[in-house]
Amino acid sequence: MVALTVLARHLQRHLVRQVRQVRLPVPQRSVPVRTCNLSACSSRVVLSQMHPMWQEPLEVPGGERQSPIDISMRKSIFDPNLKPLVTQYDPRTCQQIWNNGYSFLVEYDDTTDKSTLRGGPLEDQFRLCQFHFHWGENNSWGSEHTVDRQLYPAELHLVHWNADKYALFEEAVVEENGLAVIGVFLKVGKTHEGLQKLVDALPAVRHKDSVVEFTKFDPSCLLPESINEYWTYAGSLTTPPLTEAVTWIIMKQPIEVSHDQLAVFRSLLFTSAEEEAQKSMVNNFRVQQPLKGRTVRSSFTPFLQNVPPADP
Ligand SMILES: [Zn+2]
Repeated sequence: MVALTVLARHLQRHLVRQVRQVRLPVPQRSVPVRTCNLSACSSRVVLSQMHPMWQEPLEVPGGERQSPIDISMRKSIFDPNLKPLVTQYDPRTCQQIWNNGYSFLVEYDDTTDKSTLRGGPLEDQFRLCQFHFHWGENNSWGSEHTVDRQLYPAELHLVHWNADKYALFEEAVVEENGLAVIGVFLKVGKTHEGLQKLVDALPAVRHKDSVVEFTKFDPSCLLPESINEYWTYAGSLTTPPLTEAVTWIIMKQPIEVSHDQLAVFRSLLFTSAEEEAQKSMVNNFRVQQPLKGRTVRSSFTPFLQNVPPADP
C-alpha cells in the first residue's frame, strides 16, 4: 500500500524536477541524434522498438562529452593518483521506488549528508539521490557502457550530486562537476541475495508512474567486492537532459544476478495502467557516443597482473 504522504512527497519532488528542467539553458544549436557506431546496437534494436523518448531528435547541450561510451582496456590510462573510493550509505535514507516510464528509481533522502560518496577521482563530497538500472530484452545486451565492446545484460547507476558546491540536485545537474555516477555491470549467474529484497518489491511498481514505499535498503550490497578497481571519465547523463555534468566511475568487476531476477526487471512496463497497449520495460539504454578525444583513466594496471614470471 502506498502511503499518501509518500505519494505526495514523490509528486512534489517530481514537480520540482520538472519545473527545474524547464529552466535548463536552451542549447545554441540542435544536434541530430547520433547513429551508433557499434555492432552492439546497429540493427538489433530498430527505431520502432525504442522508447518514445529516443524517437525524436534530442537537443544535446554541447555534445562534446556525451555518455555512454566503449571503454578500451588498451587505451585507458593508469592513474596512480586515483584514491580509494569511500561510500558511506545509511539505509535509513532509502525512501521509495518509482517507475518513471523508462526505468525504476530507488530514491534516497538527500537533504543531509547521511549517504555520501567521496574519494576516487572526486575532490568533493557527493550525496546519493537515487539508483536505477538499464537492461536488455535478453541476456545478450542491455548495459550502456561496454568494455572492449563487450556488452553486459544490465548496468546499475548510483547517482550522486555535489553537495559541497551546490544546494540542490537540480542545481548540480547542469554544472560541470555536479554529478558523480557509479556504474556497475550485471552478469548472469547465481541469485544476488542483496538485490532480492528490491526484486520482491518490483511488482508493486509494474506500471509507469507508480510509486511504492521502500525503506532500509543499503545500496552498498550492490557494489562489487573490489570497488577500488574502476575506470573514470568525464561524461554526461544518458537520459534527458543529457547534461555534461557527470564524473563517471565504472567498476571493473561486475556483480552476479540470476536470470530470474533480470526477468522481474523485464516484467515491468513503460506504460501506465490506463494505456491500452502495454509495453515491456526492456532495452532502456542509450546508444553509445563518440569519445571525442577524452581520456579514460583506470585505478588499476590491467596488464601488469598478467605479465608472465621471468625465466629463472
Ligand atoms: Zn542510468
